[in-house]
Amino acid sequence: MAGDRVGEGAARWKAFVARRDALVAQMEMGVCDGCDGCGLRCMDGFTVTREEWGAVRAYLAEQPKEEVRRVLSQEKTVPWPGAEDTGATVTFCRFRDLEKNNCFVYPARPTVCRLFGHTPWLPCPIEAVPRVPSGSPELWRDYGAFERKTFAAWQAEDGGDGAEKILPDGRQD
Ligand code: SF4
Repeated sequence: MAGDRVGEGAARWKAFVARRDALVAQMEMGVCDGCDGCGLRCMDGFTVTREEWGAVRAYLAEQPKEEVRRVLSQEKTVPWPGAEDTGATVTFCRFRDLEKNNCFVYPARPTVCRLFGHTPWLPCPIEAVPRVPSGSPELWRDYGAFERKTFAAWQAEDGGDGAEKILPDGRQD
């Protein structure tokens, strides 16, 4: 039955998050001070699960509206840092605060953001992380079994409906 499938999906995701969080707990987070090493790689266009999208929206709904508006109204397509004179541009993640140079949804950030800098294939760009926990390749493989879309695609699918008053493009219901 459809209800059973939904329940199974929720249980599978919950089990995945428990594994992910156990892996994150083994990471050398003490050397991470929110530097731009990873932050400058927070590009738009990566994919997340519906649950991750929901977690971000729920987190946004708890933040001061003016702060949400401030971050989400920032122009995220900017000259490529360090190559401004070439005309090249880059589009950052809509949740990167380009004024404060941090992640506005850090506590609710998706899986790829949690692994960045702490996996063999997404190593710390400034080599500050001395050791990465084992198990991330398996976790990443299993993450691939969940349906994923970009933030923009989930938002388009949801049509901006729902309890949250602040939409992730900065508009208000
Ligand atoms: S959600 Fe946060 S950590 Fe992840 S890419 Fe966006 S700004 Fe970076």
